[in-house]
Amino acid sequence: MCNCIKESEEQILAHLTERDKGKAIISKGAGFLNVAISFGKGPAQRGYDEFEYKTTRIKNDGSTGATQKKITCMYHTYCPFCGVKIEE
Ligand SMILES: [Zn+2]
Repeated sequence: MCNCIKESEEQILAHLTERDKGKAIISKGAGFLNVAISFGKGPAQRGYDEFEYKTTRIKNDGSTGATQKKITCMYHTYCPFCGVKIEE
């Protein structure tokens, strides 16, 4: 598995730190939002996209309930930076 997520975060932080030098301080904890830890062949960072949809539940009597907004996630199969297949 590649190390693109960590390397990209470090590069972005270095760029932002240099750009804002003397004008602002970037707080710790900065990084990509849609990244999770997967535990397939050992812990690794893995990106994902969120899919938003709305669903209306059908009750036992056939009437419908309230429409709710939901989000489900889809993990990346390939690294979006270098294109290497992400092993499970
Ligand atoms: Zn990569």
